[in-house]
Amino acid sequence: AGAVAGVSHIKRPLRAARAVMEHSEHVLLVGAGAEAFARGLGLEMVDPTYFSTEARRAQLHRAQADAVTVLDHDGAASAPLDEQRKFGTVGAVALDAHGNLAAATSTGGMTNKRPGRVGDSPLIGAGTYADNRTAAVSCTGTGEMFIRAAAAHDLCARMAYGGQTLDAAAEQVVMQSLLAIDGRGGLIAVDAQGHVCLPFNTEGMYRGHARVGEPVQTAIFR
Ligand code: ASP
Repeated sequence: AGAVAGVSHIKRPLRAARAVMEHSEHVLLVGAGAEAFARGLGLEMVDPTYFSTEARRAQLHRAQADAVTVLDHDGAASAPLDEQRKFGTVGAVALDAHGNLAAATSTGGMTNKRPGRVGDSPLIGAGTYADNRTAAVSCTGTGEMFIRAAAAHDLCARMAYGGQTLDAAAEQVVMQSLLAIDGRGGLIAVDAQGHVCLPFNTEGMYRGHARVGEPVQTAIFR
């Protein structure tokens, strides 16, 4: 496993996360140390303004004026989902022909969050987890609740210790454990047999899956 958090100059944070996994003895690097590590490996660095757009600045100013913290992408134009309840994180899970499971999560973060806040995405076991014996999991939603529930690991533990199927474990985590603490969002998961499960407890979740030899499936709503 590898992860970075609290970075603002790394153009592709997932590549930095992978580099932590492949080129360091650590799992999680944060802040200036993470950026120095990425720079040292020749990963592309950008000025933080690279990530700044007019729409997102306007969104930040609205959130500041209302003194609230909102989920990423709130306020984007003409999207089909309720923008107050849509999460902006991008995740991927995969099973390869050799039975290796992998998960990756790049957070959309929260707008007007407190500086220094870290969500669930880079925390292995909370927003991201993969274990060849059970499943690969990537989460999106109100990160604090996914951290409290150790959501991604809990799904795998239910399969490993309780013998639950992927569907049953995912249903328990998303529809019961998270909802019980007002955790909103969902996850994508694939198990060691290639079953795919994409549950969410929100209005919808942008999602898709593909299998060799089959057409790609995509969906937004339930
Ligand atoms: N889970 C992410 C976080 O808390 C937010 C998201 O999924 O959009 O940072």
